[in-house]
Amino acid sequence: MLPQTNWAGNHHYRAARYAEPRSVDELATLITGSSAVRVLGSRHSFNDIADSDDLLIGTAALPARIDIDPEARTVTVGGGVRYGDLAMALHKAGWALHNLASLPHISVAGAVATATHGSGDRNGNLATAVRGIRLVTGTGEIVDLRRGDEGFDGAVVALGALGVVVELTLDIEPTFGVRQRLFADLGWDAVAERFDDIFSSAYSVSLFTLWDEASVSLAWIKERVDEAAHVGEDFFGATAEAAPRHMIAGMDVRNVTEQLGVDGPWSERLAHFRYEFTPSAGAEIQSEYLVPRERAVEAIAAVRELGPQLRDLLQISEIRSVAADELWLSTAYGVDAVGLHFTWVRDTPGVEAVLPALEAALYRLGARPHWGKVFAGLNAPTMYPRLADFRMLADRYDPEGRFRNDFVRRVIG
Ligand SMILES: Cc1cc2nc3c(=O)[nH]c(=O)nc-3n(C[C@H](O)[C@H](O)[C@H](O)COP(=O)(O)OP(=O)(O)OC[C@H]3O[C@@H](n4cnc5c(N)ncnc54)[C@H](O)[C@@H]3O)c2cc1C
Repeated sequence: MLPQTNWAGNHHYRAARYAEPRSVDELATLITGSSAVRVLGSRHSFNDIADSDDLLIGTAALPARIDIDPEARTVTVGGGVRYGDLAMALHKAGWALHNLASLPHISVAGAVATATHGSGDRNGNLATAVRGIRLVTGTGEIVDLRRGDEGFDGAVVALGALGVVVELTLDIEPTFGVRQRLFADLGWDAVAERFDDIFSSAYSVSLFTLWDEASVSLAWIKERVDEAAHVGEDFFGATAEAAPRHMIAGMDVRNVTEQLGVDGPWSERLAHFRYEFTPSAGAEIQSEYLVPRERAVEAIAAVRELGPQLRDLLQISEIRSVAADELWLSTAYGVDAVGLHFTWVRDTPGVEAVLPALEAALYRLGARPHWGKVFAGLNAPTMYPRLADFRMLADRYDPEGRFRNDFVRRVIG
């Protein structure tokens, strides 16, 4: 049955038909038998990226393989596998991914398609772990691309525009432990003056704020147990939390992964939210903008100026760092980036009313919007130098434009 809405309930999917193929052959037949196709992952995006003029394909029934190759240090996963299941299987076998997003509930293929990221100065987004990709293209052909192949860098973060990804091969490393600690009330002066020191102080650093407040309410750091700790009881003037906290005031702390410096496996610490509970708020809309790191302090100042306008719509904002990569449509393409994320209340007209001012302030600093979240507009040719190459790749793998929905047409023309 066609899923009516995305996970957050702010978007109703447009599609005439829905199917969940069980095999690659069935998938290829479905693709070639339809004039317009899109594929749906775990439904955690917030915009019309997955809409279809005809057929929408779900990935839940595709083979859910998780095959570890210790020699090659890779894991190969099926197109519908979620990070939560993958992380548990990897840790059990003694392996790890380099990073996770805030929630483990999302599908690997859907996250990779939109350049989903976690945090960490040395951590590229989740798509940077992809070493190989197998997709069924718009002509129903199976194509395998490996890192280094011509076109690979365009085919990883592909917005679902080249076909259906049925397998991904990801880099893995030996499993490692992580501890999370939270610090309250980090001064805005420290953020402006010690930005690099703050973000390089741990494996992953997130700052949570409502912007229109005297200090950053929460710094959330994730330290690797196998690395020397650089943070003591004082975090640039912020004080250590003695009890667990949810980043959104009033939400249940049972939903967040274990804090208070307790060592645990990466699979139970790198995401903010526990797999077995509801992530974030549920009734919400998200937006996020990736700014070149060298403009991050200016961008933060610009958003703070807009703070009073945003206040009533905002549940929480998060600031994270992402390492540069070479994936053509990645939001960190060619530049170390800082994500300014906004979890809004589920008020679509209200959010749409503030986005133009927010985007005017951030786009002049070189920001790119997160592909899976709500944004008002973008100028893709100026934001993405390899856009013309991506368009050629889409023409090659999907010559009849089956996978080009309105979203993709707005991006690549
Ligand atoms: C509570 C919450 C927290 C979040 N936290 C973060 C975060 O920490 N960091 C971050 O960067 N983002 C975050 N996001 C955004 C989320 O990671 C992205 O929207 C991601 O794309 C969701 O993956 P999905 O499988 O649900 O994709 P969907 O929303 O189902 O689809 C997204 C896109 O992926 C494509 N796609 C899906 N499967 C395939 C496939 N097999 N082959 C080809 N294309 C495919 C679809 O066609 C579509 O274009 C969050 C979202 C929520 C709801």
